[in-house]
Amino acid sequence: MAYDFGRYFKPKEFECGCGCGGLDISQKLVDRLNTARELLKQPIVINSGFRCLEHNRKIGSEDSSAHVKGLAVDIRAIDSNYRYKLLNVLFFCGFFRIGIDKDFIHIDIDESKPQKVTFLY
Ligand SMILES: [Zn+2]
Ligand SMILES: [Zn+2]
Repeated sequence: MAYDFGRYFKPKEFECGCGCGGLDISQKLVDRLNTARELLKQPIVINSGFRCLEHNRKIGSEDSSAHVKGLAVDIRAIDSNYRYKLLNVLFFCGFFRIGIDKDFIHIDIDESKPQKVTFLY
């Protein structure tokens, strides 16, 4: 299946961070990120997208992580005003699972996990 990364993103941004080249990312997730980026009118930097199981284990994440399923991204967010605007847009775009860490926002569309939750790390 050919991906469409849309106007704002490149495949590389979603690739596994270990360098394996893994890129099994959800098209639905990428589409919604493009919509969010359009509304935000500011850059969205993906810290982490797809992760192979080995890499995911290496960084201490659980095997059930939505990143391994290609259903999650972590967006860089270190500025409080940017974080506020990003969260506003993500809620508006119907993201039902949002994780907040000090320097990134995690979003995933994994329907096997609890919905309408905002969690901390
Ligand atoms: Zn990898
Ligand atoms: Zn994440």
